Amino acid sequence: MIDYNELIFEISRPGRKAASLPESDVASVSLLKKFPEHLIRKIPAELPEVSEPQLMRHYTALSNKNFGVDNGFYPLGSCTMKYNPKINEDVARLPGFANIHPFQPVQTVQGALELMYELQEDLKIITGMDALSLQPAAGAQGEWAGLMIMKLFHKQNGEGKKRTKILVPDSAHGTNPSSAFIAGFDVVEIPSNASGTVDLAELKKHVGTDVAGLMLTNPNTLGLFEKDIVEISKIIHGVGGLLYYDGANLNAILGKTTPAVMGFDIVHLNLHKTFSTPHGGGGPGSGPVGVKSFLAPYLPIPRIEKQEDEYVLNSEFPLSVGRVKGYFGNFGVNVRAYTYIRTMGPIGLNQVSESAVLHANYLRKLLAPYYNVSHTQFCKHEFVLSGLKQKKLGVRTMDIAKRLLDFGYYAPTVYFPLIVEEAMMIEPTETETKETLDAFAKTLIGIAKEVEQTPATVLEAPHTTPVRRMDEVKAARKLVVRYNKNDEK
Ligand SMILES: *Cc1c(COP(=O)(O)O)cnc(C)c1O
Repeated sequence: MIDYNELIFEISRPGRKAASLPESDVASVSLLKKFPEHLIRKIPAELPEVSEPQLMRHYTALSNKNFGVDNGFYPLGSCTMKYNPKINEDVARLPGFANIHPFQPVQTVQGALELMYELQEDLKIITGMDALSLQPAAGAQGEWAGLMIMKLFHKQNGEGKKRTKILVPDSAHGTNPSSAFIAGFDVVEIPSNASGTVDLAELKKHVGTDVAGLMLTNPNTLGLFEKDIVEISKIIHGVGGLLYYDGANLNAILGKTTPAVMGFDIVHLNLHKTFSTPHGGGGPGSGPVGVKSFLAPYLPIPRIEKQEDEYVLNSEFPLSVGRVKGYFGNFGVNVRAYTYIRTMGPIGLNQVSESAVLHANYLRKLLAPYYNVSHTQFCKHEFVLSGLKQKKLGVRTMDIAKRLLDFGYYAPTVYFPLIVEEAMMIEPTETETKETLDAFAKTLIGIAKEVEQTPATVLEAPHTTPVRRMDEVKAARKLVVRYNKNDEK
């Protein structure tokens, strides 16, 4: 059996070639004299020398070691890992989209600008916002841009120095407090009540004219809808603060309600979550930021405008936060999101929400007899289990997550949200079949039984992965990413 764990450098043999082409019959031209002398290699690079089949097998074997939504179920909470329709990829690869350059004159990229303009219009309808920029390249960058807009707004009103606080519930995604901090605000954590939503009495304690705004995800990261949102909005607006909506995961509310209806002033979206562009490897992403009309002058520039039958870029917004990303954001992600929205249509998007919520509640019901459920009310697109029952038997949530890998599943988000002990956060998404959900539930139930009967199997998991448990702290602190042929394997 060939060892596909070998590095490509280890299978290399001097003189072996991946391709044999006939001798060239035109004179070769050296570009070397165009480079400064000190940049030219004195000895040839030690590149691997392999045959074409070796090369193909090596990279195919590597690609199979990667787990992604194309390989299997990915129940990661607060991250919307839905299937990415392949038609998005086809469209993003059309030469007219793939081969253009951001420095081209706008007259030559009218189609690209039209797509971006139309996508903005669609996202305005979906969020209820009045104006929107596609520029931020990630959810966290959208948050930061939104908070800078908030900051400039207060400054413009002569309250820049006074409004220093951003309120963030304790169930928030970690990027919320960090974006607020980076934008120069003081972060105030608001505790949740027993039913997992914002505690209004606690909120009122922190509300005053020093509040710049509140950041909220609704449904929150427990998968619960903040039913008091209208009241919350009144409380914050009552003291002159603004409401920021973290719309990274819009899967539960598409076509059902909008951040605008709930009273929010600013919102960011993650096109790489809700709108089906692939993510998980660190990007590229897209985190558009949308605002109510009174905040539109602060949006990033340049903004795309439609003038009669031409699209133009307008940078004449003196109050703008400026440019937050090189060029126009991640255009390829925009193409995928636009394709997704247009292939689904309004009715399809509405059904996404219904299926996402149905799937989450279905799984929650199947699993509730075997695991603790953090909050028992009806959930939205995700829910949080707690491994407390299993912890009493000496098995932690981390062990359960590792055991799932043996069965070909990605693990749920674990130990988040922080307010649930031994948390396992599950978001099945709308794109999975009932058979997939049933099989996943059966596996998790099987693991709960193993915890009672043969706990060692779970404690020693994973058994089948190329690397078993590693010292995660050492892996992060003493990261070795460079191959050295003299190192022991
Ligand atoms: C993923 C996520 C973010 C951050 O998005 P990135 O694109 O990873 O920066 C923010 N908030 C919530 C609720 C999220 O799920």
